[in-house]
Amino acid sequence: MIPYARQSIDDADAAAVMEALRSDFLTQGELVPAFERELAQYAGAQHAVAVCNATSALHLAVRALGLGPGGLLWTSPNSFVASANCGRYCDAEVDFVDIDPRTYNLDPELLAAKLEEAGKRGRLPDIVVAVDFAGQPCDLDALSDLRTRYGFKLVEDASHAVGAAWNGRATGSGDADVTIFSFHPVKIITTAEGGMALTNDAAVASRMRLLRSHGITRERPEMRADAPEPWYYEQVDLGYNYRLTELQAALGRAQLRRIDEFLQRRRAIADRYDRELAGLPLVLPWQDPRAASSYHLYPIQVREDAPLSRRELFDALGASGIRANVHYIPIHTQPYYRDLGFGPSDFPRAEAYYARALSLPMYAALDDLGQSRVIAAIREALR
Ligand SMILES: *Cc1c(COP(=O)(O)O)cnc(C)c1O
Repeated sequence: MIPYARQSIDDADAAAVMEALRSDFLTQGELVPAFERELAQYAGAQHAVAVCNATSALHLAVRALGLGPGGLLWTSPNSFVASANCGRYCDAEVDFVDIDPRTYNLDPELLAAKLEEAGKRGRLPDIVVAVDFAGQPCDLDALSDLRTRYGFKLVEDASHAVGAAWNGRATGSGDADVTIFSFHPVKIITTAEGGMALTNDAAVASRMRLLRSHGITRERPEMRADAPEPWYYEQVDLGYNYRLTELQAALGRAQLRRIDEFLQRRRAIADRYDRELAGLPLVLPWQDPRAASSYHLYPIQVREDAPLSRRELFDALGASGIRANVHYIPIHTQPYYRDLGFGPSDFPRAEAYYARALSLPMYAALDDLGQSRVIAAIREALR
């Protein structure tokens, strides 16, 4: 069976985890801070906060940026539900901005128009969560301009985009107020479960650190007591336990050593799909020349003039042992969001894209033979 995505674990990865397992600390040791330093350096960020998954990274980011009850968060409907749910965790209102039909990312022109409307009505968003869909960064120049003009905070959900770049600037290097990475096994590098929040704002970073661990601190300036005993700590806010373990950090550091090899392989796979699927009744993923994608996904659309539907192509691939997938069911069409008042046809571009979308197998461990099977099965089905 060829899945749409999977991890790549080698002997060095396994050895790193075993070493951590036999060390003095299984959690709250030195490996998590080392992973944070190395990833911050890789992405060109000043601060990195490792957490147990990207969903909690999003939650910490929006809380640290001040989102709370009565607040407003906007994001893309073409994403995993976590991009929107982080607003709901804070009892804020959530709304969406439809996508650019070429990149499938939140469309900066629609965002500009919606901001202008919202400004007139006096209800601007506090946070915009921009999602780097499939690993292709959003138009961070346009988003930064709008942020300056309208004063929202920008969170970049780069769960797909570790190792990507926009206009030569590495993802996470500081275009957004906070950038989020995911280390779920289907993503670029993995820690099983895991995530990271990157920022160049020291105050936001220390607030995320505080909230990661129950809102508890042992740092003198953060505490009220002025002559604390050595064992003393204070809970100064209501936080969570969102910590990453030492075993996971060990795996993350080992994976980070292989990231360039992973990205190179993903780009080679994308190039070959681009070449060998050209001319078929499919829409292949368009790349903005300013973007360097990390190719988490290779999303195609089955065109209307194709001899079979998306569902039929999905089933034909399945019959050949190839498990494609679909990203994403538009968030606003989920029952939970319908109950909040959203409905079908609210964001027609995301819905039209979803109706024809299919994510082909894309992962560093997919070899040439495996990719040949995928390409042959698609050609055969479309004959
Ligand atoms: C995977 C993913 C998440 C959530 O990541 P977890 O680490 O599984 O919590 C959030 N947003 C997007 C766009 C994702 O693809």
